[in-house]
Amino acid sequence: MPVGTLGSVKGVPQDTLEELGAQIILGNTYHLYLRPGHELVRSMGGLHKFMSWERAMLTDSGGFQVFSLSGLRKINENGVNFRSHLDGSSHLFTPERSIEIQIAMGADIIMAFDECTEHPAGHGRTRDSMEMTLRWARRCKDHFEAHKQEVPWYSAKGPERQQALFGIVQGGMYADLRRESAQRTVEIGFPGYAIGGLSVGESREKTREMIAATLEVLPEDKPRYVMGVGYPEEITQYAALGVDMMDCVLPTRAARHGLLFTSEGRLNIKNTRFVQDQGPPDPACKCKVCARYSRAYLRHLFVAGEPLAGVLNTIHNLAYYLDTMRAVRHAINLGDPSGIQSGSVSMA
Ligand SMILES: [Zn+2]
Repeated sequence: MPVGTLGSVKGVPQDTLEELGAQIILGNTYHLYLRPGHELVRSMGGLHKFMSWERAMLTDSGGFQVFSLSGLRKINENGVNFRSHLDGSSHLFTPERSIEIQIAMGADIIMAFDECTEHPAGHGRTRDSMEMTLRWARRCKDHFEAHKQEVPWYSAKGPERQQALFGIVQGGMYADLRRESAQRTVEIGFPGYAIGGLSVGESREKTREMIAATLEVLPEDKPRYVMGVGYPEEITQYAALGVDMMDCVLPTRAARHGLLFTSEGRLNIKNTRFVQDQGPPDPACKCKVCARYSRAYLRHLFVAGEPLAGVLNTIHNLAYYLDTMRAVRHAINLGDPSGIQSGSVSMA
């Protein structure tokens, strides 16, 4: 899922996302709540209508962002008090409040409000955090069940869309806690499950180990979503383990810093070796940027600070990521998920 923090995948118009084949994009609750505000989004008919995006959309709970505001937030059983990074104003997110905001914005998939356990954390502290996330998951589900008809696009005639609340597994870097968290989140019961609190500074091997431990417990017939990962070779590896959904800011953020993901590895487009390089950014890529522009031109745009640099780099990186996932789906359809792990599709 490309990340569209503020109701926009930075620099890329919605019609281009459609051409690239993006089936679902992600919006960030914390950012949209602060600006333009969820009540404005509700009054505009919800996020789909507001940003003119008919395809699927997911919002996170805001938890990850508010926990990242270290020094600006206080956590207790009720929820999280935090100060806006924009103007310092005081706000409170509780599980109920996060769900209320996400219902108002009306994405197809919304996420439970969880505590993203800090890293590193000891076993006892991680267990306490996991227990609170489980209590919060119950509160989120209760609030959602009582208020789910309040989506801005609700129709009494029968919904054209239906909003789904996913639960989130925590448990830090401990396989026993990951399995217990997964087991007890499944007992509460959700139509899909996310694995949160990873890619927070641990080794790649540890990430993989935690995902594998959690997948042992999560039902195979429900979507399984790893939040906030990863590099192209990681997403193929996790898909081979049985992960269905992932989101990452990497293809878009890296693009704005001039980093391109290609079948020949990562290219730093500002490198002087591209000054007169007439080749496409990625000879194996079929995107409209690679079909039309040279590395030399992209380098010139980037060095000159032209806004088009970020736009074109982002379009290519998204094409590369979405092609990678298309190749993953192709391998699965052929009944050969092992082909994913071997890396045979990662360069598609
Ligand atoms: Zn391309």
